[in-house]
Amino acid sequence: MNDLHDASLAASHAARLDRLAEVAVRVGLGLSHGQELVITAPLESLALVRRITEHAYRAGAALVTTLYGDEEATLMRFRHAPEDSFDRATGWLFDGMAAAYRGGAARLAITGEDPALLAAQDPDKVARANRARSKAYLPALERIVAFDINWSIASFASPAWARTVFPDLPEEVAVARLWDAIFAASRVDAADPVAAWSAHNAALHARTRFLNERRFAALHFRGPGTDLRVGLADDHAWLGGAETARNGLVCNPNIPTEEVFTTPHAHRVDGTVRSTKPLSYQGTLIREIAVTFREGRIVEATAIQGAEVLHKVLETDEGAARLGEVALVPHSSPISASGLLFFNTLFDENAASHIALGQSYKTCFVNGGALSAEDLAARGANSSLIHIDWMIGSGEIDVDGVGADGTTAPLMRGGEWV
Ligand code: ZN
Ligand code: ZN
Repeated sequence: MNDLHDASLAASHAARLDRLAEVAVRVGLGLSHGQELVITAPLESLALVRRITEHAYRAGAALVTTLYGDEEATLMRFRHAPEDSFDRATGWLFDGMAAAYRGGAARLAITGEDPALLAAQDPDKVARANRARSKAYLPALERIVAFDINWSIASFASPAWARTVFPDLPEEVAVARLWDAIFAASRVDAADPVAAWSAHNAALHARTRFLNERRFAALHFRGPGTDLRVGLADDHAWLGGAETARNGLVCNPNIPTEEVFTTPHAHRVDGTVRSTKPLSYQGTLIREIAVTFREGRIVEATAIQGAEVLHKVLETDEGAARLGEVALVPHSSPISASGLLFFNTLFDENAASHIALGQSYKTCFVNGGALSAEDLAARGANSSLIHIDWMIGSGEIDVDGVGADGTTAPLMRGGEWV
């Protein structure tokens, strides 16, 4: 490879990184003039965060504040911190973030973690640290999931993540391949990325409009090892693509996104289902999950790898063994077509239809913002400290919509929209 070639590659990488930053600010956040922005990001994503920061100020941001995380520091905690460290969390920091959102700040998260960072650590410590963090983070998280503010998640190709996705490639090549996948899935390679996102959002909104008009009572998934009836919550609403936050700003919460999704009824899921892709959960790979649901609850769960972690997850709390989300994604989605397993939910959940254990989204209800916790529960909403998506879609899965009167309508055949 000659220098000239290297130089043009570097130039094109810088240009694509800048386009990703522009997509994150204009499409992901829909940042408004005078708005503050809070970013959380891994240290390694500094180059992307700087591009984003410039685009944010050029879009009129009043103040951009980035909180950087360092995975090496996380490992030091697990190796050397005293035992009682693992029941603690930076509540003061999360309270500050919640205050920023109450004050109208937008929120951007950059992901690109090492999927196996904590794989070798004590699972009990990992579980305790996660629980403490989830509890402390709740006041901030509630502002986000209720769409009080515009928010988004975008990603960054860290070396550790790239090595996990491409274990057989030299690190430099692996990072470049992962960037290619991120840029393609984030529609950054389109001639006009912002226009490409408008068209994509229009297509997703056409699907959600159709599903919201039909008001199915249940979805029926059939395929190898799967015969699952997922009752939908009363007054459920299908969402997908761009959202209008309660502050009136339009944001795309996930970059990339291919899913349309809604709330299952916490007590009306019955049958068996098998995962179609491995689930990467906090450094553990859980393979070939097979579960049986009865009246909404998982009554039997097996996995050929990671079963112990799966069982621990299901015991987190009462809602952990019930569903909080069901999502439809065509098998031909660009992320699925890449044939890669990303070990990152933002990408893997957009490769296949999926269900999520745990917490449901208030916004996936008609007029959800106005409903109390009791109203939501009465309509079938699930609540839990966890929300874990796992893939049940493939080219072999058929999905029917089941009406309140029992009539069925084909929605997907062989993993594609009918
Ligand atoms: Zn989803
Ligand atoms: Zn989800």
